[in-house]
Amino acid sequence: MDTATATTEGFWGHSPDVPLDLVDLTGTQAAGILGRLADRSMPALAETLARVGNCAHPVRLVGRSDTVDARTGEIVATFRSADQPLGMLYKPCGNRRQDVCPACSRIYARDTFELIATGTRGGKGVPDTVATNPLLFVTLTAPSFGPVHSVRDGKQPCRPRAKTTVCEHGRRLTCWAHHDPSDVEVGAPVCPDCYDPDSAAVWQWFAPELWRRFTITLRRHLAAALDVTASALRDHLRLEYAKVAEFQARGLVHFHALIRLDGPDGPGTPSPVPAAVLADVVRDAAAAVHYTAEPVDADDVARVLRFGAQTDVRVVRDTSVTDGAVTAEQVAAYLAKYSTKAAGFDPARPRRHLTALTSACRDLASRALARCDFGCGERAAERHPALCGDCQASPYALLGHWAPMLGFRGHFSTKSRRYSVTLGALRRARRRFQRLTADARRNGQPLDTRDLEARLMADDDAETTLVVGSWTYEGTGWPHAGDKALADAAASRAREYAKWRADQRAHRPAR
Ligand SMILES: [Zn+2]
Ligand SMILES: [Zn+2]
Ligand SMILES: [Zn+2]
Ligand SMILES: [Zn+2]
Repeated sequence: MDTATATTEGFWGHSPDVPLDLVDLTGTQAAGILGRLADRSMPALAETLARVGNCAHPVRLVGRSDTVDARTGEIVATFRSADQPLGMLYKPCGNRRQDVCPACSRIYARDTFELIATGTRGGKGVPDTVATNPLLFVTLTAPSFGPVHSVRDGKQPCRPRAKTTVCEHGRRLTCWAHHDPSDVEVGAPVCPDCYDPDSAAVWQWFAPELWRRFTITLRRHLAAALDVTASALRDHLRLEYAKVAEFQARGLVHFHALIRLDGPDGPGTPSPVPAAVLADVVRDAAAAVHYTAEPVDADDVARVLRFGAQTDVRVVRDTSVTDGAVTAEQVAAYLAKYSTKAAGFDPARPRRHLTALTSACRDLASRALARCDFGCGERAAERHPALCGDCQASPYALLGHWAPMLGFRGHFSTKSRRYSVTLGALRRARRRFQRLTADARRNGQPLDTRDLEARLMADDDAETTLVVGSWTYEGTGWPHAGDKALADAAASRAREYAKWRADQRAHRPAR
């Protein structure tokens, strides 16, 4: 395994002359770090940091677990939190979002990459022949709800228009700026009165439903292309996908998906339909899919929701012919990167148009429940509103609850069941690998790599030991001020090291 043989030799960041970058420490943080040095708990903290991979908000647990031989009932090992370096068990938070935990989000991105890439090239129990199945990269966008400032490619300004282009509110809908992606203007309406945040919020609220309908429509159109009934489609081909939702600057999501066509016998069996035909069917299905959202209240109108016109469909691979412009690995890396993005909220640099979208979500929820005699409308904007039975049945009842996510209630990355391995299986394989290496170390035996991957990816049934634990939750986060600063600095150094290694690999002469 690559990590086991990795050497840090030559990396600038591992020299004792280069301390961690602890900038902007507060007085309490500095005192906390000095306290760790004074009471000699720094080595224990360093070991714990290493065990949780420099997680920013680890979960603290107290208790014990016994490993039991499933056949004999004998306890073969016992683990006690009191024996741990800091006297407690620390578990990584596992948060997906880069802005919440840089360290855990990197693991999430790496697992997501593995999951998506495995579905394009095989391995880990997925047949290698999936590497010859037609593969598309599809982006479904949100429609326009009014002109917004945006970053253009190349030398193009934001909105070059004739000077005479004036909206009904008397504002010029031109912008000659060359925006930088970090510009707070990007994604903001050019004229706030021309923008429809209510419809944007309703679209986002039903975006998961639009995706669901898209997959149904796609299967229906494929059946029509093959001249078979929708229910008979399974006898001819299987459609598998992995998708990621990505927030755009204007606060609305795009769906990026890798769509693979398999034969009727499952992953890696030959597809009866080439990628080019699938590409046409995807375009038609994306244009056809719609959902009619009911009015929020008596003063509102019904909205027919659709995807934006800019559906992007690329053939990554067609049996043997490859587009060449984009590889499956590149697409997997792209999707993995977007799976860790947040809703675009940076508390240090709030964007007014995102705040406006949040308010629209809360206002619409309040309006939808306004007529309730029990006062649900007044509570609709709360984080956890207590609602009567009638109000709970309203499609907009929980829109206020999802306001911090700008009304998006879907999952950020999903896949069809037989696209690839699962994140759970990858996590289980990592735990097993750690246990096998720990066993090998303890017994002084080399790690037996025969069938290693198959053993790591095997279903739980194959396990011969059980872990029985009793744990209580002690809290979340690091106990001392300054610990988190050290975790963040160490995580940042680990990122630089990973980048340095990738560069080394890229420049290594071929052997
Ligand atoms: Zn974490
Ligand atoms: Zn602009
Ligand atoms: Zn206007
Ligand atoms: Zn009510």
